[in-house]
Amino acid sequence: MLLWQLPQKHREADARPALVFQDKRISYPELVAWIKAYAGLLQQMGVTPGERVAICSPNCPEFIYSYLGAIQAGAIAVPLNLMLTREEIAFIIKDSGCSTLVIHKAILERIGLSPQQASSLGLKHLVVLDENTAAKAQAAPPPEPIAASEDDICVFLYTSGTTGRPKGAMLSHRNFMADIEAMDAVSHLGPDNNFLCVLPMFHSFAWTTCVLLPLYLGSTITIKESFQPKDTLRTLTEENITIFCGVPSMYAVFLRLGEKGQFKSLRFAISGGAPLAAEVHRGFEEKFSFPLVEGYGLSEAAPVVCLNPLYGVRKPGSIGLPLPGIEVKVVDENDRELPVNEVGELVVRGPNVMSGYYNRPEETAEALKGGWLHTGDLARRDEDGYFYIVDRKKDMIILGGFNVYPREVEEVLLTHPAVQEAAVVGVGDPLKGETVKAYIVLKEGATADKRDLQEFLKEHLALYKIPRLFEFVPELPKSPTGKVLKKLLKG
Ligand code: AMP
Repeated sequence: MLLWQLPQKHREADARPALVFQDKRISYPELVAWIKAYAGLLQQMGVTPGERVAICSPNCPEFIYSYLGAIQAGAIAVPLNLMLTREEIAFIIKDSGCSTLVIHKAILERIGLSPQQASSLGLKHLVVLDENTAAKAQAAPPPEPIAASEDDICVFLYTSGTTGRPKGAMLSHRNFMADIEAMDAVSHLGPDNNFLCVLPMFHSFAWTTCVLLPLYLGSTITIKESFQPKDTLRTLTEENITIFCGVPSMYAVFLRLGEKGQFKSLRFAISGGAPLAAEVHRGFEEKFSFPLVEGYGLSEAAPVVCLNPLYGVRKPGSIGLPLPGIEVKVVDENDRELPVNEVGELVVRGPNVMSGYYNRPEETAEALKGGWLHTGDLARRDEDGYFYIVDRKKDMIILGGFNVYPREVEEVLLTHPAVQEAAVVGVGDPLKGETVKAYIVLKEGATADKRDLQEFLKEHLALYKIPRLFEFVPELPKSPTGKVLKKLLKG
C-alpha cells in the first residue's frame, strides 16, 4: 500500500474522527478529500513526480494533508524541523534540490524568507499554509493518478546520522509500511483508539507512531501543536486518550505533575527517542498503574527497531526486543557478532531500513556496510534477547528527544573571530537528560563571553542547539594524534 492510501480503507468509519484539532473534528472521508485536494493543488502548480517538496509547519491537520498530498502527487516529502534557522533550512532545500516549500505562515514570518531569497535557493513554488491555500486546494482539479510502486522513495528524512552535516535518509512506502505492520503485529491495538500527538510530526517517531500507525488502524489522532505539560495532562483525561507516545523528559514531567489514577482511559504510554531512566520508568508505572513501554529507533529505520513487549515482560533500562521481521545484532569493530552481554555497535537489517542517503554514496556505503545499518549506538543483548543501549559511538547529544551534533555547533563557533578552538559535549541535565556545553579556547588577546557567543550562534543555529553552558579554557585535552578527548570533558 502507498502511504497516502492509508486513510482510504477506513472511508466507512465515519463515527470515529480521523483527526481532532482544537475544536475541529475531521472524519476519514474528509481527510481523504483534503489529501487529494493538496495533491491536486501541487500538481496544478506544476509539481511533477520525483520532485522534492519541503514541509515546515507545527503540528496541524494541514501538515498531514500537504505531506500525504505531496506523496499522492508523486513527489518526495521532505519534512523540516520547525525550529531551524533560515540558514539551516536553506542548506536542506539546496541539498535535497527541493522545488517547493510548504510553510506555515508563522514560520515564514519568523525566518523572513523573501520571494527573491526563495528563488535563489532553487525554489519554484512557495505554498503558505493559510486559509487561502486551503480554499485553493479545494478548488483545484482532482490529481492525475501517478504510476507508483511501494519501492518508490516517498520521503527524505534529514538527520546527521553518525557524522557531520545533515543528510537525507531516503525512505520508501515499503520502509514505513513494514515498520507499521511490524508494530501492529506486536501491539494488536485495533481501531478503537485515540492517539495523542504532541511530538512534532516532522520527526519520524511522531510521524510513524502517532500519524501513520493510527491511520493504518482507523483510529483517531488528537493533534496538539506542542507539548504544554498541563494542557497535555488535561487532554489525556478529557479526550479519553488511549495511546500516548513521548520522549523521556515528558514522562519525568508527568511523574512530577500528574495525579495518581489520573489517566483512566490510557492503555499504553510509549517512550522513545532517548534513554528512559529506570527510576522514571518505575516511578511512573507505580504512580499511574499502567504500562510505560520503552522502544528504540532511528530515522534511517523508519524509525522503530525495538520495543518492549506490550503484553509480556518489560525490562526497565532495556529497549526491548526487535520488531518481527527486523534483525538486530551487536557487532565489534570488524562487524563480527558479539556474544551475550558484550558491548558493541547495534546494527539493523530489515524491510524498514533506508536505501541510503541522498547524493551521499560514501556515507551510504559506510552506514550500510555489509547490508546492515550501523546505528552508531553502543548496546548489549541479554540472555533473553532484550537489547540495552549503553552509550553512543556517534558524537551526538540528545536534549529531550532532539538531537544536537557537536560538530555542527563547533563549526559555527570556529567562524567567530575570537575563537581559536571549540569542543562541544553533552553533560547531564536532570530534566532534559543532557544539555549542551561548549569548551572554548580564545585567540590570544581576543575577548568574548558566553553572551557574545550565544548571540552569535543564534544567527546560524536553531535555539535548541545553542550551548547553555560555556567554559573558557587555556587549552583542550588532546590525544597524541591531536584528537580532542571529549570523554575527559564530559567529566
Ligand atoms: P533520530 O534519527 O533523530 O530518530 O535519532 C535516533 C537516535 O536516538 C538513535 O540512534 C539513538 O541514539 C537515540 N535513541 C532513540 N531511542 C532511544 C532509546 N530508547 N534509548 C537510547 N537512545 C535512543
